[in-house]
Amino acid sequence: MAKKVAILGGGVAGLTAAHELVRCGGFDVDVYELATAPGGKAASNVKPQSGTGGRHPLPGEHGFRFFPGFYQHVPDTMKRIPFPGNANGVLDNLVSVPLGGIAQEGKPLYTFPTAVPSRIDQWRQIFENWSDQAELGLAPGEATYFIGRLLTFMTTCDKRRFAELESISWWDYTDAANRSPQYRKLLAGGLTRSLVAMRAEEANTRTMASILVQMIMSMTRQGTMNRVLNAATSDAWIKPWVALLMSNRVNFSCETEVQSLQSDGTKITGVTVKRPNGTVDRIQADYYIAAFPVEVAQRLLVPLAPAAPSLGRIRHLRCEWMNGIQLYLRRDMPICPGQIICADSAWALTCISQPQFWRGVDLGRYGDGSVKGLISIDISDWTKPGTKVTNKRADQCNENEIVQEVVEQLRAHLTGTSDPLDPADLSSWFLDPSITFPGQATPVANSQPLLVNTAGSWVNRPEARTELPNLFLASDYVRTNADLACMEGANEAGRRAVNALIAASGSNARRCKVWGFSEPTIFLPLKKVDEILFEMGSGHPGIDRIASLKAAVLARSERRRRLARQPAGGPS
Ligand SMILES: Cc1cc2nc3c(=O)[nH]c(=O)nc-3n(C[C@H](O)[C@H](O)[C@H](O)COP(=O)(O)OP(=O)(O)OC[C@H]3O[C@@H](n4cnc5c(N)ncnc54)[C@H](O)[C@@H]3O)c2cc1C
Repeated sequence: MAKKVAILGGGVAGLTAAHELVRCGGFDVDVYELATAPGGKAASNVKPQSGTGGRHPLPGEHGFRFFPGFYQHVPDTMKRIPFPGNANGVLDNLVSVPLGGIAQEGKPLYTFPTAVPSRIDQWRQIFENWSDQAELGLAPGEATYFIGRLLTFMTTCDKRRFAELESISWWDYTDAANRSPQYRKLLAGGLTRSLVAMRAEEANTRTMASILVQMIMSMTRQGTMNRVLNAATSDAWIKPWVALLMSNRVNFSCETEVQSLQSDGTKITGVTVKRPNGTVDRIQADYYIAAFPVEVAQRLLVPLAPAAPSLGRIRHLRCEWMNGIQLYLRRDMPICPGQIICADSAWALTCISQPQFWRGVDLGRYGDGSVKGLISIDISDWTKPGTKVTNKRADQCNENEIVQEVVEQLRAHLTGTSDPLDPADLSSWFLDPSITFPGQATPVANSQPLLVNTAGSWVNRPEARTELPNLFLASDYVRTNADLACMEGANEAGRRAVNALIAASGSNARRCKVWGFSEPTIFLPLKKVDEILFEMGSGHPGIDRIASLKAAVLARSERRRRLARQPAGGPS
């Protein structure tokens, strides 16, 4: 008889788990989702009541989506979701992004292309091109220093990365305190704020450096660091995914809130849910996959810590705010074929001009038909005072102040581009509905914050398999190889939860594929040298010395191994 699985939360992690269980066969799958539709943070929104004359409402996103070239789990899933006219399903809806941009106030837009390095000196060249351009204004030697830190990371063994770099902040690792303001803005603080919504003083080096290396490396594999969808995320991906799951008898209960999980101390015995009509039910299943986000896990899973100690440590994990706003324009403004980091913006804005990638989407069929352009923006710092129309923090502003301040910060960054933004271009806007304005005591609330990888946080992140044999975890805060709060991490977590469930249930289904990160093989011998040094209790000797130490360290290690193999009292 089929085993019953209750998936609690229908974001990328929950949908991945449902998809994999369907593939396995032998499971009845129910997804309980709080929102009106599945997709979680990845789901698109629409601007309410904006469609007139039979047109669709204007498309909105929780925040714009990018799919770095190193993602493997998400593309694998996408390939298995049919999409009309696509040989590779939803995967064919991903479009390669040729450029990235760094905008600074009063300066021309700095763009960086993709390339295909295959030797260490070419890697050095790439890094130098990327960070040592005159427009970036770094002090002499700073680019070389930063490159040295990245190369040092690439020659650091995995054991040292976990033992040492996990608890060192990106700020300290890159020596930001002793560098120029421009270095701090672009290579230390700006990078972490814009990409992962956190302060460099708190971001852990193991994760930051690893993601940077993977981003750069993905150019060799995919020919580009970055891809985006060719339409709104829900249209291009989430809706076809849910349709596929429903056609495979996955049952979705939306607008259903999981309120608590009950345990007898040895297993989960049931889950209390509140239905859309307000009734409260107790549901039971053979297995439970908790796929709600970390801030909900802190409320619902931490009370289970007496029976499952790993759940107790979730309470120490931290979130920050990162939320999107879309500007609808009367003219199309491509600006740059890729994401732009607005490096001087107080609220850490990043943006992308969307229509150039949305092949086949006729914006004339949306809203009142007059919208021609759409800039999608993420606000990644909600705690710094504004600088243009308000000196309040974003999380203290009203909606109008947020919009006006964002528009002015963006305008100041686009003056040096071929497409400056004129206020007359702005038709309307849409702020992520997760942001609400409850009133005086809490001027702004955010129902969907984002996990941040603070220094030393790995120890507090749980595995997908818990100490309770019928409870598994799937969300972006679970320990994964991707190791970042992103769609790739969520997808991998969903697979890990299903793998643990397969093992617990005795099913003979094939395990879900889980990929690790690979790094250029040319660095492996030096990583090996560092591993030997680490095991001897020595620090990393630095990128300039490690290569010259290679022969001596390997010979010494070989001598030790030979001595260890010799019988006691044997010839020396
Ligand atoms: C602004 C922004 C931009 C981003 N951009 C990118 C990007 O470009 N690329 C990328 O890879 N990642 C990006 N991310 C991160 C990515 O969106 C998330 O890491 C990922 O979607 C998380 O998926 P999840 O399934 O773990 O969690 P969620 O998406 O949070 O899904 C959890 C689900 O559980 C539901 N839920 C919550 N509470 C309950 C309850 N009590 N009962 C029932 N259901 C409940 C929620 O409604 C939700 O649907 C971005 C995040 C943000 C905030």
